[in-house]
Amino acid sequence: DSTTLEQIKKIMNEKSVELLHLQFVDIEGILKHVTVTVEQFDDVVEGKMMFDGSSIKGFSPINKSDLYLQPDLNTFAVLPWTVEQGYSEARFLCSVKNPDGTLFEGDTRNVLKKTVERAADQGYTISVGPELEFFLFKTDENGYPTQELGDKAGYFEPSPYDLGERVRLEIYRALKAMGFTIEASHHEVAEGQHEINFKYADVLTAADLATTYKWVVKTVAKKFGLHATFMPKPVFGINGSGMHVNMSFFEGSENAFFDPSDELQLSKKAYQFIAGVLENVKSFTAITNPLVNSYKRLVPGYEAPCYIAWSTSNRSALIRIPAKRGLATRVELRCPDPSSNPYLTFAVIASAGLDGIEKELEAPVQIQEDIFHMNEEERAFRGIDNLPGSLAEALKELEAGEIASQTLGEHVYTEYVSLKKGEWDSYRTAVHSWEIANYHSKF
Ligand code: GLU
Ligand code: MG
Ligand code: MG
Repeated sequence: DSTTLEQIKKIMNEKSVELLHLQFVDIEGILKHVTVTVEQFDDVVEGKMMFDGSSIKGFSPINKSDLYLQPDLNTFAVLPWTVEQGYSEARFLCSVKNPDGTLFEGDTRNVLKKTVERAADQGYTISVGPELEFFLFKTDENGYPTQELGDKAGYFEPSPYDLGERVRLEIYRALKAMGFTIEASHHEVAEGQHEINFKYADVLTAADLATTYKWVVKTVAKKFGLHATFMPKPVFGINGSGMHVNMSFFEGSENAFFDPSDELQLSKKAYQFIAGVLENVKSFTAITNPLVNSYKRLVPGYEAPCYIAWSTSNRSALIRIPAKRGLATRVELRCPDPSSNPYLTFAVIASAGLDGIEKELEAPVQIQEDIFHMNEEERAFRGIDNLPGSLAEALKELEAGEIASQTLGEHVYTEYVSLKKGEWDSYRTAVHSWEIANYHSKF
């Protein structure tokens, strides 16, 4: 509306904004942008910026390639690291539109908007707090990433062991200046691994924040000569990086997952949500864990889940219910990793939960024991199934299920499946260093 427009103009004046980056994501959630000058502001706000959709992964065929960017005014932010240079730069996240003004169905941000509508039709708003972990690696003299980790510190260690503390502080300051509410920042379990947490928000905002976070972390790390990666398992033998998704449904200002009269203070809808997620998780793992490498993280012993179960406290379970209740009551899904497209990841999880509520599914009993230490018979006895073990398995499950095709819509679903099948095929036919190490001299 006009007041926000006026506010934005005022800020742009005060901060001498000269350039505007119009940002959006491709099908993998990778940030793209085109830069325009402030003189074009009015045209930009009216959605007149056109671009070539056929050059964006998963977007449109070459014969229908003209697409338009519609900035979301709520996402306006001045880029803090540009303020010092005498003039500054700002950005908007945009939705992608067709030439006729309708929402472009290949834009994953628009996919999430559909899920938001579906939830709203049932009376819910979706609230999400994602936790994105990342690694810092040293770079070489040309600025390219090396395989050398940024430090040797571990969980919660301070500097001087944690060489990333300074970088995290700068990332925190940049995020804060861009409107994030930061809750905590710490060294994670693995060497060179870090996490900065921000406050939960409505699901679309949360996906925008996750996207922005990844970009800011990489940008600031680079200024310190470091490479930040959200690759799920960059180093064999130590923890990988997750993107735990904390989700709750609200009805008005009430948390629909909270019920003080229940033994665990969880509502019927919370149990149904859990049941829906557990029932559908195998068929959406290819979305929440999209890379060949994602499945190297989902193995026993590294705080990442591989068995399908839920628990109120257990970090070996796929779903954990953090201790907080009242408005903060939420379900934490631990399989997603930060290489996934947050718009699609949040959309499929919410859809699965909505399905559970709609169909009044019943949650299995919770598992309090360490599942990593159970053998196969014990797990089978308790009905604990496995997550897919590879991208290939996950893609089979995706195609066998309905949740992904329904949630993603035909355009994104078809493009996604073909992209990922290609990725698997390229991996399947490549000769890896493991094969050389194990076979080359022996056979
Ligand atoms: N790094 C772990 C993972 O792969 C999670 C550790 C934690 O609980 O924060 O998901
Ligand atoms: Mg963590
Ligand atoms: Mg967590």
